Amino acid sequence: MAHHGGLPYDPRQSTDALLFLVSQAGNAVKPANASARIHQASFLLIAALVVIASPVLIPVAFALHARDRRAMLAIAERTQCKLCGATLGAASLEQADREWAEHVAALHRDRPGIRFRLVRCLWAICAACGGRHGFNAERRLFTLLDSDF
Ligand SMILES: [Zn+2]
Repeated sequence: MAHHGGLPYDPRQSTDALLFLVSQAGNAVKPANASARIHQASFLLIAALVVIASPVLIPVAFALHARDRRAMLAIAERTQCKLCGATLGAASLEQADREWAEHVAALHRDRPGIRFRLVRCLWAICAACGGRHGFNAERRLFTLLDSDF
């Protein structure tokens, strides 16, 4: 019995043979698997970092946004409309927010499925005369817009 004992193809050792085949199959796919595992691991690592950092990043983003908003409001409260001279104030910012939201909603409604890269120009609409103002963040001042958005 030349085949007895050592080789796994002996029908009496069918379990060993099966395990042998599985391990060979495992070896055969290892190189591709290893690189796929590295990709998967780095993806999981990045995903984990984002998840771990999000309790910090999200409040920071909100805080920065709130700070910018407060600064803009403070400037609006001491800025006169370039058309009629009325103080812009919070009402003008809220009016601009509403119109901008409607403008964006209309764009999506008219061209569904299109991704827009929008730069917001309209930041204040005078509550008294409807004068439309942009905001220059660097110079921290409102300017009259010559276009609608
Ligand atoms: Zn005005």
